[in-house]
Amino acid sequence: MISVLILVDSAEGKVTKATAELATFGSRLGEVIAVICSSDAALLLPQLSTMAISKTITVTGVEFGKFSTGALSAALAAIVEKDSPAAVLIASSARGKEIAGRLAVRIDSGILTDVIDLDAELVATQSVFGGSTTVHSAVVHGTPVITIRGNSVEAIIGSGPLSHEDFPFIYDGADRARVISQAPAVKGGRPELTEAAIVVSGGKGTDGNFAPVEALADALGAAVGASRAATDAGWYPHSLQVGQTGKTVSPQLYVAAGISGAIQHRAGMQTSKTIVAINKDPEAPIFDVADFGVVGDLFAVLPQATAGVTARKSS
Ligand SMILES: Cc1cc2nc3c(=O)[nH]c(=O)nc-3n(C[C@H](O)[C@H](O)[C@H](O)COP(=O)(O)OP(=O)(O)OC[C@H]3O[C@@H](n4cnc5c(N)ncnc54)[C@H](O)[C@@H]3O)c2cc1C
Repeated sequence: MISVLILVDSAEGKVTKATAELATFGSRLGEVIAVICSSDAALLLPQLSTMAISKTITVTGVEFGKFSTGALSAALAAIVEKDSPAAVLIASSARGKEIAGRLAVRIDSGILTDVIDLDAELVATQSVFGGSTTVHSAVVHGTPVITIRGNSVEAIIGSGPLSHEDFPFIYDGADRARVISQAPAVKGGRPELTEAAIVVSGGKGTDGNFAPVEALADALGAAVGASRAATDAGWYPHSLQVGQTGKTVSPQLYVAAGISGAIQHRAGMQTSKTIVAINKDPEAPIFDVADFGVVGDLFAVLPQATAGVTARKSS
């Protein structure tokens, strides 16, 4: 049976949802081997017990806080050489894509990024040009290195790893750039934008008042996003911008309030499963991609939606 390596994705000692999604895609292809490269390995290991994973490998001997993507890609390359997997799957975060790029160079293989679907023949589906074109691609040289966009699949429950091995690794530290220090971003209680199942975004139509956007997001347990007009105006952090030059999101539900739907914004949210748009202009292009649209003033519509959600939750 063929095996597929997945790189366990984690944040602050917690395995992310992306890992379960990687395992789900991997299990379509064969036996899933989850590789843990983290100083939190002992915390992460038990969290894999319900995922579709056959085996875990913990890379030891590397201080991952100190050496980051260089060490990680070198360790993965060594495991690829040892185990000859059919593919390596990595979460499509900025860091994941950097690791994937470095790994592909190290093992002289092709790479596909931001994949939203993967079949048993390793043919990948990507959504490009702002979601207007769907591309099917396959790696034709080496061991495919594939990054998977978050929320692309409903993660399945598995019986967890049956075996484990430690992989002692000595990193030569030959990085050309090195992280000198790092500090976790100060976070509110909301989910991470690219991982959230629901995103509520506000645009220029908010006129700088994101309170109704945030209230609906909190009622739904959603992340908050913003258009570039809103981030450029300084109303919301650039880190929460959705679009071509911001984050790409693909949640189950995307609510766009006071956002016109420029192609550059749509590039970052068009693959959302259900899109709801609230805009007072019935001709706004966002309605072209919306599954449900409300023509109206967001300051009237959003509070009603929030009240409706809150009432349903408490009934
Ligand atoms: C190279 C490049 C990269 C870019 N990258 C991005 C990107 O990553 N993300 C991004 O978002 N944009 C990006 N842009 C900018 C993009 O082209 C648009 O300018 C931007 O998305 C517009 O933001 P907006 O929809 O909030 O504002 P607008 O286009 O001004 O639309 C505001 C909307 O709000 C509606 N509205 C106003 N008041 C209300 C109200 N009270 N209630 C309901 N509706 C109301 C209006 O009818 C209008 O449709 C990029 C542009 C370029 C050139």
